[in-house]
Amino acid sequence: MAFKRKAIPKDIFFDGKMNIVWKDGAHTSYDYWQLRTSCPCAGCVDEITGEKILDDDTVPKDVHPVRSAYIGNYALEILWSDDHDTGIYTFDKLRDTYPHEVKTIN
Ligand SMILES: [Zn+2]
Repeated sequence: MAFKRKAIPKDIFFDGKMNIVWKDGAHTSYDYWQLRTSCPCAGCVDEITGEKILDDDTVPKDVHPVRSAYIGNYALEILWSDDHDTGIYTFDKLRDTYPHEVKTIN
């Protein structure tokens, strides 16, 4: 069965928020702290129960990405300023699931 991926980023940039411009022209932006506290890794979310382990209060309010890298063509790995680097954010979830704002491009 063919799987067609719709969430393909064209450009990712950081300007106090993380911004993704998608191939279909949509533009979404992400608050750093919200994105950090949505980290899906096994250290932040229980892999079996899906329950969140991370205590949001332990994440500095000024947390920001230090480095980011594409993982294949399906996800983004972010190294955060609090030294957390195990989070892999899939583009599908960035597009639909993680807290974001939809921007309009003029
Ligand atoms: Zn994590």
